[in-house]
Amino acid sequence: MTITTTSTDTARAELAALLPGQVLLPGDAGWEAGRLGWTVSAAQEPWAVVTVEEEEDVATTVRFAAERGLTVSAQPVGHGATTAATGTILLRTRPLRGIIVDPERRTARVGAGVKWGELLAAVAPHGLTGLAGSSPDPTVVGFSVSGGLSWFGRAYGLAAHALRAVELVDPSGQHRRITAENDPELFWAVRGGGGEFGIITAVEIALFPAPHVYGGRIMWPLEMARPVLRAYRDVTRSAPDELTTWAHILRFPPIPEVPEPLRGRSFVSVEATFLGSSEDAEELLAPLRTLPAVVFDSMGTVPLERLGDILQEPLDPMPTQEVSWLLEDLDVATIDRLVDVAGAGVQTPVLLVQLRHLGGALSRGSVEDGPNGAVPEQYQVFCLGVPVSPEVVAGIAATSAQVTEAVAPVATGRTFFTFLGAETDPSRAFTPRSLERLRDVKRAVDPRGTVRGNRPLLPAALPAQREA
Ligand SMILES: Cc1cc2nc3c(=O)[nH]c(=O)nc-3n(C[C@H](O)[C@H](O)[C@H](O)COP(=O)(O)OP(=O)(O)OC[C@H]3O[C@@H](n4cnc5c(N)ncnc54)[C@H](O)[C@@H]3O)c2cc1C
Repeated sequence: MTITTTSTDTARAELAALLPGQVLLPGDAGWEAGRLGWTVSAAQEPWAVVTVEEEEDVATTVRFAAERGLTVSAQPVGHGATTAATGTILLRTRPLRGIIVDPERRTARVGAGVKWGELLAAVAPHGLTGLAGSSPDPTVVGFSVSGGLSWFGRAYGLAAHALRAVELVDPSGQHRRITAENDPELFWAVRGGGGEFGIITAVEIALFPAPHVYGGRIMWPLEMARPVLRAYRDVTRSAPDELTTWAHILRFPPIPEVPEPLRGRSFVSVEATFLGSSEDAEELLAPLRTLPAVVFDSMGTVPLERLGDILQEPLDPMPTQEVSWLLEDLDVATIDRLVDVAGAGVQTPVLLVQLRHLGGALSRGSVEDGPNGAVPEQYQVFCLGVPVSPEVVAGIAATSAQVTEAVAPVATGRTFFTFLGAETDPSRAFTPRSLERLRDVKRAVDPRGTVRGNRPLLPAALPAQREA
């Protein structure tokens, strides 16, 4: 369907009339900020932005879009924003904030607008946790339908696999509650295939025991990168599933927003969470404890609602430029090559090179759990900078290419869906077989392409590709 300017204006006015006070349109005051997600470098140009007030608003918008051949996307926060939202009616689902915890069954019903920090605060008093990642800021729904690599993934698996039921408005505008029993194929797809199958209003997720979490961050000057990362590798070699460790090469920019002791300085760090006692955790971290020159140490009991304090990632919107790879292994030669390209003495605008230890429950399970199946890779590398000028963009790209080369002998070419950054093509996140199965589900449930996620499963969904 070709919509002329006049009919577009008319259609937009109709939508605004259907949902008074909830629709932001191009040209409105606040449009420039309102059209963007958290990742402001994703230059998305939606057709309109709708802030839902109740679940029925989702159905109203989807039906409106379906009747007119338009598309709808959900973007509660926009940590995963890409240009795929361009041309869609963008639904802001943050007001759907309900949380119902059932400590006996160890489940929670979570509204589509609930952030991880909010959910952890609600379940922590029960000695339970959900499978949250590094930041309290993403929504449980946005994170979980995209896979979701948690601090507790080694113990309990991907957040997507903790989904027990999904309440959504399907592409025709009907409310449905999807479970493994009533629609196994669609349920399989929503457990990690992204937001392509309907607009979710709430999910039911499994919760897991976490009566005591020990964790924190230890930092050394960047000159210590080689011995620290080698000791980090040793820790991962014998880690039980309850222990998750990540490591970073960190460069804090010389800007006023960074606190004085860190400003303009560079470090190597190891971060950990352990589902168990402080004593057992320290024993497991012993290879790191013999290393001198520690400049920061926050290891201790972690109240779950403060989980995000370990990494202290920024909460305010920002531009990002990143690359990520899954690694079969982390051998000493790879560590040395990483230190060569990103360690002390190197000039680069890249702010962090992160390593995450995978394995454990992430590597078990089956392809029937969801499109990610079992993840055989044992580590992940992630490289991030803030693209503030063309020179910085070029510098980040150069270091990203060097990091890519450094890990090439152990990289499988894949990464998690949630670490694809600006990429709109989801292919690197799935095996060809899982991707084909996801595409079959998409074709079956949304033949007209009414619902669009941040990484469309069918390439023709993107306007630029459609024109090509
Ligand atoms: C600082 C930071 C830390 C991060 N840490 C981790 C981490 O530890 N582990 C990890 O795996 N990822 C991590 N990520 C990636 C992030 O979790 C994902 O991008 C996640 O999808 C973002 O959630 P969101 O609520 O911001 O979703 P948005 O960016 O708002 O939406 C992302 C996509 O989710 C889908 N979606 C969201 N809501 C709905 C809905 N109601 N119905 C249907 N589909 C929906 C849509 O396809 C949408 O395009 C991090 C990102 C940042 C910026």
